[in-house]
Amino acid sequence: MDFENNKVQIKLLLEQPLFKAATVVADRLGCQAFIIGGFVRDIILNRPSQDIDIVVVGSGILYAEELAAELNIRGDVKVYKNFGTAHFRYHDSVVELVGARKESYRSNSRNPIVENGTIADDQNRRDFTINALAVRLNNPERGEWVDPFKGLDDLKRMIIRTPLEPDITFSDDPLRMMRAIRFAAQLGFDILPETFLSIKRNCKRIEIVSQERVVEELNKIILSEVPSRGFIMLYESGLLDLIFPLFVELKGAQYIDGKGHKDNFLHTLEVLDKLSARTDNLWLRWAALLHDIAKPATKRFESGIGWTFHGHEFKGSKMVPGIFTKLKLPLNEKMKYVQKLVQLHLRPIVLSEDVVTDSAVRRLLFEAGDDIDDLMLLCEADITSKNADKVKRYMKNFEVVRRKLKEIEEKDKIRNWQPPVSGEMIMEVFGIGPSMEVGIIKNAIREAILDGIIPNEFDNAFRLMLEEGKKLGLKKIE
Ligand code: ATP
Repeated sequence: MDFENNKVQIKLLLEQPLFKAATVVADRLGCQAFIIGGFVRDIILNRPSQDIDIVVVGSGILYAEELAAELNIRGDVKVYKNFGTAHFRYHDSVVELVGARKESYRSNSRNPIVENGTIADDQNRRDFTINALAVRLNNPERGEWVDPFKGLDDLKRMIIRTPLEPDITFSDDPLRMMRAIRFAAQLGFDILPETFLSIKRNCKRIEIVSQERVVEELNKIILSEVPSRGFIMLYESGLLDLIFPLFVELKGAQYIDGKGHKDNFLHTLEVLDKLSARTDNLWLRWAALLHDIAKPATKRFESGIGWTFHGHEFKGSKMVPGIFTKLKLPLNEKMKYVQKLVQLHLRPIVLSEDVVTDSAVRRLLFEAGDDIDDLMLLCEADITSKNADKVKRYMKNFEVVRRKLKEIEEKDKIRNWQPPVSGEMIMEVFGIGPSMEVGIIKNAIREAILDGIIPNEFDNAFRLMLEEGKKLGLKKIE
């Protein structure tokens, strides 16, 4: 990283109307104001950032109101008196204004004592040196760095380090341990060995942090470019065992009669990385994380055959709601999507091993619906064999599956398909109410279409409905 270039970046930034106004107001009020934290870090790293933090030595609220007036957006300020903060939207950004704070923690309470402080106090309470960097807004030193912990050097060296003694920083707010790993994963940085050792020492304290905050960081790790890096750090620090022990159960390979199985922890991370190179979809990445989660629970050694994991896709899919509940992930259609992908993750492979029949493809399309493309991405990422010939063969077969999927979808429109004859129509035609018979007839029509016995059309389905009704002793109302 080039410091001259950093100076130019900051100079350009300070030319923007928002920061010009911020200086005018700071000078007029005679209070010190600074741009600080993640926004400064991201400017230097050339990362897009919409959250601008300004710290004021004095009242952040008064400063916010004056700044909004200067920008002619007086009515848009949201004030949080209890926290001494205020924010407003300005173009695409959210500007947050806060008075400089001093925080002191007591061992018997998780909540710090907060007092007004200096800029140095405010920087002391920040989590990492790269997040404690500040740029002065007041004249005459406008644009100067306030960098007491050499955060700029750490940005250059790509290092995560705490400003104070790490045991103090992590013990004060244990979420910072997750944040250290999250930033290392997101930015491709290393955690200073001394800092990492402190995470190892303090990892147990993560248990006092709310699950919502933990999972927010976990999701950011999952969304990083190479998520396995973050997961390996979580594992080596001891945090993973505490926040997601089921996942750690995938670790290791057992041997019986000289036969072993693969390490499903490493395999899963490989799948996650491969998939992540092709999608930013958080929930698809979660499906990759959980696709083999039931392998430890279904593992058996069968003599003459070796290790088997029969039904792990079904059991895994059933485990998803429990995992989502425990981790405080949303229990909505996202969860159902993950369940579906976990349950179906072997289907394209099975298809590609055999001769690919139309009816098998039609069934897969029917069950996967609009998620078929995501399922194919997951399955392709799931091929992590070291045997290059095998990988080539599978990938070629997947091409056949993809071609067939396209052909059959164009022909039969099975995706999001509704059978051409509805339950209401069956009831109306035979003059019956909701009953088992309606289900039997509907099922027969669906199966016949999926198996390709009749085409996916109304006339054929109606004829079959009449035949099936007759078999059940039902008569068409004339
Ligand atoms: P992102 O926007 O990706 O979450 P960020 O660094 O902007 O990254 P925020 O959570 O918005 O993170 O926090 C803004 C700043 O507040 C951080 O850069 C850091 O200086 C400080 N901060 C946030 N959380 C903590 C914490 N738990 N302990 C100490 N300082 C924190």
